[in-house]
Amino acid sequence: MKRIRVLGDGLANKIAAGEVVERPASVVKELVENSLDAGATIIQITIAQGGKELIQVEDNGAGIPSDDVPLAFERHATSKLQSSDDLFAISTLGFRGEALPSIAAVSQMTLITKTTDEPAGSLVEVHGGQLIKHQPIGASNGTSITVRQLFYNTPVRYKFLKQDATERRYILDTVTQIAMAHPEVRFTLIADGTELFKTAGDGDTLSVILAAYGRKVAEAMIPVDRTKDLVRVVGYVSKPHLHRGTRKDETFLVNGRVIASRMLSSALERGYQSLLPARRFPIGVLGLELDPSLVDVNVHPAKAEVRFQEEREIFQRVMFAVKEALLSQDLSSSYALESKAPPQSQRMDYREYRQKLASPSPSQSYSDHKPLLWGRDEVAASGPVVSRPITQPREQSSLSTFIRERDQDLWARKKVVDVVANSNPAEGRLHSHPMWSGLVPMGQWINTYIVLGHRDALWLIDQHIAHERVLYEKLRSSYRRNIGSQPLLLPLHLELPPSQAAVLADHLEMLTELSFGIEEFGGGGFLVRSVPLILGQRLEQASIEEMIVELIEHWEKGGDKLDATITTMACRAAIKAGDSVSWSEIEDILLDLAETENPYTCPHGRPIIVKLGLPEVERRFGRR
Ligand code: ADP
Ligand code: MG
Repeated sequence: MKRIRVLGDGLANKIAAGEVVERPASVVKELVENSLDAGATIIQITIAQGGKELIQVEDNGAGIPSDDVPLAFERHATSKLQSSDDLFAISTLGFRGEALPSIAAVSQMTLITKTTDEPAGSLVEVHGGQLIKHQPIGASNGTSITVRQLFYNTPVRYKFLKQDATERRYILDTVTQIAMAHPEVRFTLIADGTELFKTAGDGDTLSVILAAYGRKVAEAMIPVDRTKDLVRVVGYVSKPHLHRGTRKDETFLVNGRVIASRMLSSALERGYQSLLPARRFPIGVLGLELDPSLVDVNVHPAKAEVRFQEEREIFQRVMFAVKEALLSQDLSSSYALESKAPPQSQRMDYREYRQKLASPSPSQSYSDHKPLLWGRDEVAASGPVVSRPITQPREQSSLSTFIRERDQDLWARKKVVDVVANSNPAEGRLHSHPMWSGLVPMGQWINTYIVLGHRDALWLIDQHIAHERVLYEKLRSSYRRNIGSQPLLLPLHLELPPSQAAVLADHLEMLTELSFGIEEFGGGGFLVRSVPLILGQRLEQASIEEMIVELIEHWEKGGDKLDATITTMACRAAIKAGDSVSWSEIEDILLDLAETENPYTCPHGRPIIVKLGLPEVERRFGRR
């Protein structure tokens, strides 16, 4: 048996690093939280190569007194917790005294810090947990911590890091979330020399939302503010027409601390009830303000999770707050107000917009004795008055319209049931291909299926899936072999929030190889000048934008593969079920389909052609 012994500090710190420091983004989180705890109002984060090479956090906070500097690198050394009683009412972000020693154990760290009352600052250099240098230095007030070569001495951890772009995205997400919690602090994030994200520090959450997600999102946010029994739920949630493919843009704060909570996510989503399509998620920033003793933040080493004493109660509070905010928006009165909004060309600037968005005072409109579904008049009088440029008419629609939009598919189907057959196709060109030569074209059924008659079977072809297969194969074979693009009449101007812009920028090359013409002109702006000829015929301006956003969401989830990209494009650009299509177009699709590798199944394995055999039909008629 080996003897039990106490771990040396170096090893203990490396182990602790495993808990606190998972990736560059966790380093950024710890350092920025320290800056916030030090009362900083300006925080600048500089990274290189996704933070693997360099992470630097500079702040204008209180600094560390020179005598305390060596202590900051000792485990469980903290200035924030004086007695164990404090543990149950924590108001600072850090308190374990683990971050600095843990990070210093697995990197090459330089710290420069100075307090206001001391004439000089201190410089400390620690490599892999070893103190290399400690000396006085001239410095400005505040603290600057530089972390180089993260995980240089723990190769296994290093190996687990993702591509630079992915790590950079994690960092951006981290900084964005923290900025949501601290609108009063001016944050700047610079990655490889480019400014990725910058907030004004004007104390306005909506202005952080604008910085993070762009104008479109900011304009579609609804204020939430509900207080009951000293618990306040406050923030912004997106209108139901706006949603994402992941929960990434759901931000939760508990007493100003960013946390992840499945419970809060589901409370937020339940607030939307059925207003969102399946597996789509809202954008929201929701803060919970309550007595710190009702929350246990000490559950997770990186403090990303909390435990509530009254889970169910909190769930209900959040859900109702969201529900009320949403309901207050879906009113004909707000429609009347909005129709007076300036025409689209007169763009309102953010300040103007902000002034018009008068958030309701909680005591007026959300007093708690009121029933949830109050009368219209009441809300019209006290609900938030929203006026903004109208970009999409459906933005102001009523609840029923939202629900109808969600079930668009169903509506389309109902509509097409009346249009029974688009029949009478002339003999046409189909015979030119052996695959179709023995078939008699019979028409398009309910604008969804192409019907062909064979001697011993009826062939039903799903027009969408057939077209999807065709486009998929054409796109695939066009990759890296410029087969022509179609210029757009009007170049499409995309304005993307930084996180999405970064993702799109990373994939521009792939898109170019697929014959897209897209230019990046900084600040999240892109200009789509042309699309692949193959897709051009069917894509409208609006759907090009939707397609690109869908692609970005795909890539964000790690769907970086060319194949997934092409599949998404093909699906977007293909004719839909319910589209009325000319017979000549159908012929084109069928002739192309016959040339594909596998005309019988789509890339996901769904059938393209279903054959209804004569024996089956005869059985039904009792002939057999
Ligand atoms: P914790 O934040 O849990 O106290 P850390 O290891 O993150 O532990 O930091 C240790 C101590 O170093 C802090 O308690 C604080 O006194 C000091 N410190 C760290 N970063 C800063 C900073 N940016 N400004 C001022 N003091 C800092
Ligand atoms: Mg800390």
